[in-house]
Amino acid sequence: MGEYLVRCMGCGGVQPPHALNCQNDDSLLRTEYFTKRLITRDDLPGLWKFYDWLPVKKTLPGSGEKPVTYRSEGIARELGLENLYISFSGYWPERGAKMTTCSFKDLEAPPTVERMVERKDDQILVVASAGNTARAFAQAASAAHIPLILVVPPTALDRLWISQRPSDSICVISVKGDYTEAIDFAARLAARSRFVGEGGARNVARRDGMGVVMLDGVLSMKSLPEHYFQAIGSGTGGIAAWEASIRLIEDGRFGQHLPKLHLSQNSPCAPIFYAWTGSMMVAGRCPEGMYDDVLYNRKPPYSVKGGVKEALEETHGEVYGISNKEARLSQKIFEEAEDIDIVPAAAVAVAALQKAVRSGTVEKKDFILLNITGGGVSRAKEELDMFMLKCDIEVEPSALSSALPSPSDNDLLAEIFEILGRRS
Ligand SMILES: *Cc1c(COP(=O)(O)O)cnc(C)c1O
Repeated sequence: MGEYLVRCMGCGGVQPPHALNCQNDDSLLRTEYFTKRLITRDDLPGLWKFYDWLPVKKTLPGSGEKPVTYRSEGIARELGLENLYISFSGYWPERGAKMTTCSFKDLEAPPTVERMVERKDDQILVVASAGNTARAFAQAASAAHIPLILVVPPTALDRLWISQRPSDSICVISVKGDYTEAIDFAARLAARSRFVGEGGARNVARRDGMGVVMLDGVLSMKSLPEHYFQAIGSGTGGIAAWEASIRLIEDGRFGQHLPKLHLSQNSPCAPIFYAWTGSMMVAGRCPEGMYDDVLYNRKPPYSVKGGVKEALEETHGEVYGISNKEARLSQKIFEEAEDIDIVPAAAVAVAALQKAVRSGTVEKKDFILLNITGGGVSRAKEELDMFMLKCDIEVEPSALSSALPSPSDNDLLAEIFEILGRRS
């Protein structure tokens, strides 16, 4: 049960179970599960049903809802598609979707936190986020009662709502700068002793958690889809869909063809779109003015072995650049046709699907899985209790950047420990 190896996609060497990086090169690591058949544990709740293909030894109580997959009638009719399936990650009780932070980051956080707890080395998890990731980790850490440091830019502070009382051992640090400066600060903090970074795309628990979208989709569709649509920032979800498909092909019961990845970004802030299509980068100030800034990532795992570029090559994939105007229109059409609110990022994927239909890249009878990566926020806000996380510490972007330990660094670390300790 839950048995696996972690292997480097570059050198092929087996790595220590909790490694985020290969000892020899820069490639992504991938889990190799001993169980080759997709088994669903119907005795376990939510995403833990897919326990045998998650890198954990136990489940994390109180978190781990899964998305729902259903065959669309509304938007499918609008687009003239006969086999359009929607994977919905969010809050939509009528359909059985109860991911209360309303995005598919709720698939990444619980396995990552559980895997962290299983290390039993008393490390404190550090997570940088512009919103959705912070909420998902805050919720999972609160359920698990483990300490967590969230590092956010000031613009993210008003997005830090969750639907359960936040545990006392969460420390929110606001870095007075942009998201990238928050990421850089988080990396410096995670390098200090007692702290550990979650690793983003490099963490197999995050990717295999997101892979649940494909696993759940295949159970509904009874086969692998021919096309997979998702809006991306880092592209981690695209890698995860590809990796899950490889496992499903090995299983043998769901077909032998990898789904074609149709990944979409919000132009002009679309580095993966420019890299893949070779088109000229259009100047724009990013992430300001984006339709959804969760789709912006300046350093995506694109050309590394096992990364986004290879996923696109292997699946004969495509990348779409979607303007704000296109996304806005698609959002409206989707919400009216399916009768649920979706997050702006998800509308970018809907716009890509519309483009693919217009260009004939997908055909009427094709089996398509559309990943609606977030939705039901207005439903959740109406129906659930909402708690705001508060900022505990504000720091300058330059904090912890001195080469030698400085008195101000020590003060900051002491303050963090005091906040975590006062509560535990
Ligand atoms: C994070 C996120 C994405 C993009 O995910 P990738 O990590 O780039 O695959 C898309 N939609 C929503 C709602 C998100 O929170």
